[in-house]
Amino acid sequence: MTDASSASNNFIRQIVLEDRAAGKHGGRVATRFPPEPNGYLHLGHAKSICLNFGIAREFGGTCNLRFDDTNPTKEDLEYVEAIQADVRWLGFDWHELRHASDYFEVFYLCAEKLIRDGKAYVCDLSADEVRAYRGTLTEPGRDSPWRERSVEENLDLFRRMRAGEFADGSRTLRAKIDMASGNINLRDPALYRIRKVPHQNTGDAWCIYPMYDYAHCISDAVEGITHSLCTLEFEDHRPLYDWCLEQLDLPNHPELTEPLRRAGLACTPSRPQQIEFARGNLDYTVMSKRKLMALVQDGLVAGWDDPRMPTLSGARRRGFPPAAIRLFWERAGVTKQNSVIEFSVLEGCVREVLDATAPRRLAVLDPLKLVIDNLADDHRETLTFPNHPKNDGFGTRAVAFCRELWIERDDFREVPPKGFHRLVPGGEVRLRGVGIVKCIDVVRDASGAVVELHGTLDPDTRPGRPGAERKVKGTIHWVSARDAVPAEVRLYDRLFTVPDPDDTSDGRSYSDHLNPQSLRTVTGYVEASLAAIAPESAFQFERLGYFVADRHDHAPGRPVFNRTVTLRDSYAKAVGG
Ligand code: ATP
Ligand code: MG
Repeated sequence: MTDASSASNNFIRQIVLEDRAAGKHGGRVATRFPPEPNGYLHLGHAKSICLNFGIAREFGGTCNLRFDDTNPTKEDLEYVEAIQADVRWLGFDWHELRHASDYFEVFYLCAEKLIRDGKAYVCDLSADEVRAYRGTLTEPGRDSPWRERSVEENLDLFRRMRAGEFADGSRTLRAKIDMASGNINLRDPALYRIRKVPHQNTGDAWCIYPMYDYAHCISDAVEGITHSLCTLEFEDHRPLYDWCLEQLDLPNHPELTEPLRRAGLACTPSRPQQIEFARGNLDYTVMSKRKLMALVQDGLVAGWDDPRMPTLSGARRRGFPPAAIRLFWERAGVTKQNSVIEFSVLEGCVREVLDATAPRRLAVLDPLKLVIDNLADDHRETLTFPNHPKNDGFGTRAVAFCRELWIERDDFREVPPKGFHRLVPGGEVRLRGVGIVKCIDVVRDASGAVVELHGTLDPDTRPGRPGAERKVKGTIHWVSARDAVPAEVRLYDRLFTVPDPDDTSDGRSYSDHLNPQSLRTVTGYVEASLAAIAPESAFQFERLGYFVADRHDHAPGRPVFNRTVTLRDSYAKAVGG
């Protein structure tokens, strides 16, 4: 998937190449993907996954999956399991599975060291007071009145914080850095807060919890991470990341990580380097877990894995191949410039991968009957169709043909618009793999609607016959009405009608921009063999698009297909006018 040339659109790969050439970290490469288990992964996370696991794979290194579960309230086992399944589905496997909560004891020992070194203090200011003391971008902050407490008093108070003696929010442990720093993140940031809330992994062992910035850098170091890749919003946090690691000097203080070795967790601390890159953004969707959660909770979609959701489980159910998502982020590259990529570029990658990998089948989604009058009523044939037009390796299959066919209603017009080359009264069209048929009669119901067509097949135009090459302008597909089976087909479109649903400048929110036509369900007819295929099998339905057997609802004898993507990007045209 990766090659040497791709280093040119990925500045992080370039840095890793140079670090290895310089012998940094002994040439070792260790990365991690650190999701917070408070929702399902989305296509943006896939960028980070492809980057972290991709770099490790390319350089013979390792990549951990680490659940950043320092925040006790929002986490759920459902998410922990879904995240693992999604990472695996995307084609990656982790070196070690860790939880930040594995390191709670280490974080605590590190905090005591900071206190002993005079680098951290217990502060009794309330949250509002802390804010008032913090200053602004243009004004320096003021020192907390508790900043000069003695080491003894700080140690005593911090231990009593741990023991549960104080109320939530009554005290914090803060780093003692610089209240006048131009970087607000360095104005004595909180390292610990009191929260008497049980934790999914550690139960009620703790009532103080570490803050993200403090826990993250220590977790990286403890795992021996060399390159800690994160998104741009953490750029201003890097000085704090470096400050903590410099004070703690974990590689030279094995006593701080002793609890891990005692617990049987391998631990050779490193001095990792944080590198920031731009988030991946896509148009016509939202990608914050909070908003995706709201769509689920408000019942606006059928769940986290609704095929319209930009989650990885939604993309999977929609039929996006993992290879297409990897290809997409590979092509998008990794830079420090924020940008929004068109969703149609991702769909282009999906088409590219499926064109090469999806066998072809026939299906009719809006059926109109065509009776071939010059075939006997009991006429039955088995035709041989190639499964892939460009790859003989896919082999061939038998397709049933008889006197009564389903064709697409849209392939017949009584009053054809200009340039219409398919079936019209008295006109001819080629039936894919059969020959040329002429429309000789149109049957209507009482309301005048067309309910059936009659035609004649020119026997001289059958494959292998002298007239087989005779030219007609249009070719249409069909299925045998006596053999094809009905299938539920879900036609998906984009979930939002505007390119930037997050834009609230007109006073509207993303949920005001939902596309009412994002799901249309029809009953079509598919080749009989499709009723027996496994869920998640992908096909091109000729002339219609790529479809996948639904992961949950498709069952033998009850075919359910999701449209993954149409054959062409009709959307760009529809939007452009
Ligand atoms: P969200 O805002 O969607 O909830 P998050 O950043 O809070 O996302 P985390 O679970 O904390 O989600 O993210 C895990 C990792 O994935 C982090 O390293 C984060 O930087 C990265 N990540 C999240 N969104 C994107 C994105 N759109 N593009 C690239 N990386 C991302
Ligand atoms: Mg987050």
